[in-house]
Amino acid sequence: MSAAPPPRPNAASSDARRPAANPWRVELRELGRRAGSLKELDRTLPAPADWRVELMAVAEGAPLHLRLRLESVMEGVLVSGEVEVPVVGSCARCLEPIEDSFTLDVQELFAYEGSTTEATSEEDEVRRVEGDHLDLEPMVRDLVVLGLPLTPTCTEDCAGLCVDCGQRLDDLPPDHAHEVVDPRWAGLTGRFASAPGTPDADNPEEN
Ligand SMILES: [Zn+2]
Ligand SMILES: [Zn+2]
Repeated sequence: MSAAPPPRPNAASSDARRPAANPWRVELRELGRRAGSLKELDRTLPAPADWRVELMAVAEGAPLHLRLRLESVMEGVLVSGEVEVPVVGSCARCLEPIEDSFTLDVQELFAYEGSTTEATSEEDEVRRVEGDHLDLEPMVRDLVVLGLPLTPTCTEDCAGLCVDCGQRLDDLPPDHAHEVVDPRWAGLTGRFASAPGTPDADNPEEN
């Protein structure tokens, strides 16, 4: 989960949300276009709603810590570094709640408008610099959604649940077992249990 995933469909199409105070927006004026110029970015941002995979989610508003380097290259702005993501979820084996945090590696190019990269890529193949800024949110969301484990476990070797009683095996003594009644005896036990205590009328001798 440390490898940067390739650009994905819809990666660059996030123009729907463009409010003035988008905390994910990074101004590039200061960076300039001279190849090699660098900008460090250390920002903690609240997680947007609905970032989830199967059994894990980033709680809305949870702090995402971005430690990124923005580097001006010929074709655009190269964003690299890491994002620390707090997650909540449940164990895929025993359903115990999980609270954890993951560090995801970032390495993505945001192409300049009019760059060769932009000209030779499909609309949805590459992230883009939008005018004098870029929006980090779609990139981080894709990293989170692709990077979180689909079957998280509470411990590396969680033993899961007892198939008979449904309790967590890790909470039970190692010799936990259920007495299994032999099916041949089960029938007999049933007959004795259901026999009413009637006096034995067929055996008068005994009375
Ligand atoms: Zn577990
Ligand atoms: Zn059990």
